[in-house]
Amino acid sequence: MFTPDNSRLVYSSEHGKMCPKCSKPLGDCVCDKLKRSAVPDAGGSARVRYDTQGRKGKGMTIISGLPLNREKLEALCRELKRRLGAGGTVKDFTIELQGDRREEVARFLSANGHDVK
Ligand SMILES: [Zn+2]
Repeated sequence: MFTPDNSRLVYSSEHGKMCPKCSKPLGDCVCDKLKRSAVPDAGGSARVRYDTQGRKGKGMTIISGLPLNREKLEALCRELKRRLGAGGTVKDFTIELQGDRREEVARFLSANGHDVK
């Protein structure tokens, strides 16, 4: 989905505040953009596993290794949540979905052209 760049709305002629990371004025900070467009070194195959560790018995289906940037991961997460009717979230470069949805997730990813291990 295309999101318009609203940074001009907060433009100020004052250059007092600079981002410490990219040393641009805060309104022009590119860090978030860079982060969102970064793609992990995935090695080609997505991995789908079920994890119950440290979750008080509430298992999560963890999808990792997708060669997608943050924006695309979030879009995919929304799609999976809608299709499976499950809660889910994007953490770093993994998607976490509530419950054991490994089969459905693997089928969905394969159908969408992803190589799943
Ligand atoms: Zn920055």
